[in-house]
Amino acid sequence: MTDEPSGFPYAPAPESTAIVNISSSYGIFIDGAFVEPADAPRFKTINPATEEVLSEVCQAGAPEVAAAVAAARRAHDEVWSAMSGAERGKYVYRLARLLQERARELAVLESMDNGKPIRESRDVDLPLAAAHFFYHAGWADKLDHAGLGRDPRSLGVAAQIIPWNFPLLMLAWKVAPALATGNTVVLKPAETTPLTALAFAELCQQADLPPGVVNIVTGDGRTGQLLAECEGVDKVAFTGSTEVGKQIQRSLAGTRRRLTLELGGKAANIIFDDAPLDEAVEGIVNGIYFNQGHVCCAGSRLLVQESIVEDLLVRLRRRLQTLRVGDPLDKNTDVGAINSAAQLERIVALAESGDAEGAQRWSAPCTLPDRGFWFPPTIFTSVSTAHRIAREEIFGPVLSVLTFRTPDEAVEKANNTPYGLSAGIWTEKGSRILWMASRLRAGVVWANTFNQFDPASPFGGYGESGFGREGGRAGLAAYLQEASS
Ligand code: NAD
Repeated sequence: MTDEPSGFPYAPAPESTAIVNISSSYGIFIDGAFVEPADAPRFKTINPATEEVLSEVCQAGAPEVAAAVAAARRAHDEVWSAMSGAERGKYVYRLARLLQERARELAVLESMDNGKPIRESRDVDLPLAAAHFFYHAGWADKLDHAGLGRDPRSLGVAAQIIPWNFPLLMLAWKVAPALATGNTVVLKPAETTPLTALAFAELCQQADLPPGVVNIVTGDGRTGQLLAECEGVDKVAFTGSTEVGKQIQRSLAGTRRRLTLELGGKAANIIFDDAPLDEAVEGIVNGIYFNQGHVCCAGSRLLVQESIVEDLLVRLRRRLQTLRVGDPLDKNTDVGAINSAAQLERIVALAESGDAEGAQRWSAPCTLPDRGFWFPPTIFTSVSTAHRIAREEIFGPVLSVLTFRTPDEAVEKANNTPYGLSAGIWTEKGSRILWMASRLRAGVVWANTFNQFDPASPFGGYGESGFGREGGRAGLAAYLQEASS
């Protein structure tokens, strides 16, 4: 839908939805079967690009959550933790292969329920979700050699609560390490994106996973709270907003339950004057406009060395004019729909605060569809560190541009945030990369690239971005008893 800057127009290339079979309503997945609680309320999940209703799901209440946790407990004590790592690994491999086999269907479903471009769900979410299962399947029979104690033991039942920005990928980040280490799971997907988690429940059936090893309860924050506070849960793994993360931490204080929190971010993407500028522009675009900016580690604060800021902004604006905003199922689309009306409202309000505080707004010229939730790729310049758009997570396709003169100033500005999830450095000098990286207070630092993920590489934050790591050996430790216990 973006106005063509030059050259040939794109012919539409819509992905077919025929491969996807969505039920008109779903129950809750407990003990290997979908159950329909008689009196649980139901709510609709919609396609954010069209506002069409896709399906209805249950709002699980206390009885359903307790039943799911009890099923996970039984499965843990009687089957899963008693199974050899090699046997468990076979199941995890099977899930990985099923994700690959059904990748196209799941990618289309994800784009329909979430609004993200099919190009991203097909080329990023699905391959990475499968990679997480493959990687962790490989660990299942090698835990004795992971340097985490001689006979590392599972924790028990993991309550896992995930957000809507990468629904299936966040599920993979949570479920794969938990299963590989012998834990069983009760997972709650976000209320606006439950469908791929419910499809994953079908995959668990297809894989003959023992009943109760994976349970999926749908619902909003109330269900999440019931799950996090449910007796019988041994570990809570939460990915979502800092506000809810703090609430969960408070409610778990004084209990023996383990907790990991993957929360928000306000990453600095730092461009030095010796950076390859065209590559940096691609990194900036990937950093903040990927997945509509609904990315916890998005490079939402661009710090540019003052001497090159004008040149860089010309190139960046030119590049943004080529981004295609619109139908997520069109294979040409770069930027899809905002996930919900509520999220769009948040983005609009924060952008308006940028206008009110004196920053200069520029949006890529594009025609937005009439229905659905949309926000154009946007840049704010003349931003100061005190502005809300420089401090608060917008979680949308909005970039705040600040400048610096010296590396020291870049470090000071980059670290001037309560968050600490990620950062990017663009320079041709290796020594400067190392100097900067050792001073940036961020869990992940990318150099001359951005938003690269690998299951072997631990991911997590500092400060208000949470604690605990997902992925790699550190991610396994989060699901195992301490070596001394
Ligand atoms: P959110 O905190 O509102 O919701 C996240 C999940 O928590 C949802 O499933 C929701 O239903 C549930 N929830 C809400 N209230 C709850 C409560 N009181 N108790 C238990 N569960 C509750 O966040 P969101 O708006 O869905 O997601 C966006 C946020 O997630 C952003 O801040 C983003 O940065 C963060 N995020 C972080 C990472 C990471 O790895 N650090 C990854 C993705 C998203």
